[in-house]
Amino acid sequence: MLPVDVLRDIYGYDEFRGQQLAIITAACEGRDSLVLMPTGGGKSICYQIPALLCPGLGIVVSPLIALMHDQVDALRQLGIAAAFLNSSQSAAEQQFVMDEIEAGKLDLLYVAPERILQEQTLDFLSGQTCSIIAIDEAHCVSAWGHDFRQDYLALDQLRIRFPDTPRMALTATADERTRTDIVQCLALEKPLRFVAGFDRPNIRYSVQPKGDSKTQLLEFLLPRRGDAGIVYCLSRKSVDATAVWLTKRGFAALPYHAGLPSRTRTTHQERFLREDGIIIVATIAFGMGIDKPDVRFVAHLDLPKSVEAYYQETGRAGRDGESAEAWMVYGLQDVVRLTQMMNQSQAEEQQKRIEQDKLNALLGWCEVTRCRRAALLAYFGEDYPGDCGNCDVCLTPPVTWDGTESAQKLLSCVYRTGQRFGAGHVIDVLRGASTDKIKRLRHDRLSTFAIGADHSAVWWRSVARQLIVQGFLYVDHERYGGLRLTDRSRGLLRGDMTLLLREDIDKPKLRKKDPAKTGIAASDVALWDALRARRKQLADEQGVPPYLVFHDATLMEMVRLRPSSSEELLSVSGVGQTKLERYGELFIDLIGTYPVATSPGETGS
Ligand code: ADP
Ligand code: ZN
Repeated sequence: MLPVDVLRDIYGYDEFRGQQLAIITAACEGRDSLVLMPTGGGKSICYQIPALLCPGLGIVVSPLIALMHDQVDALRQLGIAAAFLNSSQSAAEQQFVMDEIEAGKLDLLYVAPERILQEQTLDFLSGQTCSIIAIDEAHCVSAWGHDFRQDYLALDQLRIRFPDTPRMALTATADERTRTDIVQCLALEKPLRFVAGFDRPNIRYSVQPKGDSKTQLLEFLLPRRGDAGIVYCLSRKSVDATAVWLTKRGFAALPYHAGLPSRTRTTHQERFLREDGIIIVATIAFGMGIDKPDVRFVAHLDLPKSVEAYYQETGRAGRDGESAEAWMVYGLQDVVRLTQMMNQSQAEEQQKRIEQDKLNALLGWCEVTRCRRAALLAYFGEDYPGDCGNCDVCLTPPVTWDGTESAQKLLSCVYRTGQRFGAGHVIDVLRGASTDKIKRLRHDRLSTFAIGADHSAVWWRSVARQLIVQGFLYVDHERYGGLRLTDRSRGLLRGDMTLLLREDIDKPKLRKKDPAKTGIAASDVALWDALRARRKQLADEQGVPPYLVFHDATLMEMVRLRPSSSEELLSVSGVGQTKLERYGELFIDLIGTYPVATSPGETGS
């Protein structure tokens, strides 16, 4: 059998994506490899197909025990003989798996690093014929990466214990330094490197200045009712409050953070995976183990810590390739709070500086005036030619204005008030407010008092935020968050340069969009709903998430093509032999009861 036959018969896909075939071929020829591919790029197939084609057991080392169950369920849905070994199983269950391996009945085995490294597991597995060893989330081997795991360091032993088995290291995030670490620490032998671009074209990026963030979130969510998504908040308190608030407005929103009992967390995560249209409101504690393909949006109510973190968190959206949204609001307060948290941490000075630089890079990205996707990819060292047409900057180019004079006013006011006060007081002085503090400090006698009365406080906060982000103002946390001038600001005050600022867009344009239903005629909606209901019913019967039965994209194609025979159903992307046998008839019958729409002019609402 050829790789492409496996792809078609088992997975139900027509062609390989990107470098998948080259990666599979290299493994089948016995070569080690390093595979870098963004989330949703299709890494799993790269080691699964060699495991199916080559004799012996394919071993997948993965740190995500919570995920193994679903991964194995997904493979079994495809008719692939897969199992996992981990501490959640009873001794009898583990023995059963080992017996199956000895009998040569298994194609794929998922196992955690600490488990495979146990002497008896190593002894047992190295006594078997093995087709491939895949090391997933390989960046965990690097202390430089963001998710270091001690156990990964010892995985170099696999080279000695399995000298003839090709090894494949896979990850979705790795800069040059992490890549080198992976190859060295895992002792890969002359690995072939496969590096796919990091672009996620189906994700639309947008960032807005934070106003009343809950209302902004609601405006974002209203046209997306029924979509599954994740809302990230910084604190447990705001997670709880936001979840309650959304629930009151009729959304199925569930909180998730480390402060909740583990039972509650598990239930909420399970519901998110298994039910349609659940919103998880979470701290960053949520996500690492989430492999749900149909997450339609990731919303950030607070800033993440770095561009890497942002990329990883938003990467959980749209793994199925359908359009998805990465939406974020951020404000001055976020910057101040995050910087404060970093300064209070126990980390070394050096580490703090790195963290601050990473935050600054993210802030700079928030304020970009060119294509946001191009800027994001540039951060990862990748060129993106032209504009993407699928980010807020491309869709609604920000208006810029010459902010030199306003910046000078604000900087002067910081200087005149003694570089000791936060933005709130400085802006009060600029606007000529009559607060007790101003009277007490006699700041109403300063030359900069009321020189900015022609603008609102919100407007000035935007200027202040942009000056901080661009390095013209420094927030001094040793001194209660007081603003101070920097070397850069002197040049601006002298009038040596002009400064372009972004006009904050108060009312972002809303586009009504329901990705799941885009392009579906009103008369097809009934069929769409019926297909989803049947899928849910079949999934519930087996205790698996609906997307393991069929992806949204597969159902959508059924609505479009209306297959009425097994052959026609097989031509639908995502339908392979096993799923055809299991579900074919049920779906064909169901489709038969919904006649094709007669008026093609009709469109969905
Ligand atoms: P990753 O592990 O890189 O995040 P996955 O392996 O989970 O990505 O693949 C993401 C989705 O893309 C899965 O639903 C998978 O079935 C699908 N996929 C992978 N390869 C192909 C292909 N060649 N054609 C169509 N769909 C594919
Ligand atoms: Zn763009």
